[in-house]
Amino acid sequence: MKHPQEVLLAAPRGFCAGVDRAIEIVERALEKFGAPIYVRHEIVHNTYVVNDLKAKGAIFIEELSDVPPGATLVFSAHGVSKAVQLEAQARGFSIFDATCPLVTKVHVEVAKLAQEGYEFIMIGHKGHPEVEGTMGQLDHGIHLVEDVAGVALVKPLQTERLAVVTQTTLSVDDAAEIMAAVRARFPSVREPKQQDICYATQNRQDAVKLMSPQVDLVVVVGSPTSSNSNRLRELADKLGTTAYMVDSADELRPEWFTGIARVGLTAGASAPEILVRQVIERIKALGAVSVRTMDGIEETIKFPLPKGLKIDAATGLELSQRSPETGSASH
Ligand code: SF4
Repeated sequence: MKHPQEVLLAAPRGFCAGVDRAIEIVERALEKFGAPIYVRHEIVHNTYVVNDLKAKGAIFIEELSDVPPGATLVFSAHGVSKAVQLEAQARGFSIFDATCPLVTKVHVEVAKLAQEGYEFIMIGHKGHPEVEGTMGQLDHGIHLVEDVAGVALVKPLQTERLAVVTQTTLSVDDAAEIMAAVRARFPSVREPKQQDICYATQNRQDAVKLMSPQVDLVVVVGSPTSSNSNRLRELADKLGTTAYMVDSADELRPEWFTGIARVGLTAGASAPEILVRQVIERIKALGAVSVRTMDGIEETIKFPLPKGLKIDAATGLELSQRSPETGSASH
């Protein structure tokens, strides 16, 4: 029976700049103000990351009514709707916004074009928090399209001012197909100047495209809720390589590796490298003798923290002005 000989590591893989920043915001808030720090929704879609932050004192909630008055609240990397933003402000929480700046960029575009009278088609996955956040930038006038068939069902009130925005973590190829269908139906549609699919999603998919034909099996490290991780698994599968997604090394099944010579390994943008290392150890235990990292784009992008974790929603004061002893805002 053949056992895996080599592990081929995709590059880039794992954490992106938006995920790095979001986790750092929660960690810094915990350090600065102490536990508990409330986080609306999973800060990023990864079980390990969420459990780690829980152990440090973060409390993850979905409803703002579960956050006590005066608490510190972090919005997740996926972003929130205007309604959530306003409710959080009205409840007087100290807010740290960990929305990825690339998601915020889409929100800003929606707000700007809406002022100019645009209606929108949003390409994305129903129910994903990023889609809810982006669609929730407006009360009405954003139509969700999930696939090519959905394009025919859109009923805009007018077509002269129609713009497209997308979720940042889509399959690049699927989004291009849907976009072509949108263009065919609405030739004058306005497209984003730069595509909304983010650099991290694009780079990780490109790396899987390069890796898949060179391996017998692809393993993606990522949680089931992670959109970009799911897209990586699907992509490898579409390219004809059997692919599994695992949340941790414990989920690897020895039978997957029977008759497999070379394993390709990657990780979604929310999956930490420690999980990749644990998966490598497990595959080595099954027989792999070498690990090789593929050539790939080096990502140097880094997003700044939100004004030093400073904005207090209730007062507009910078939180750096808080008394470190009491944690209360100084006026
Ligand atoms: S995957 Fe892209 S949009 Fe999402 S947090 Fe990372 S950089 Fe931002």
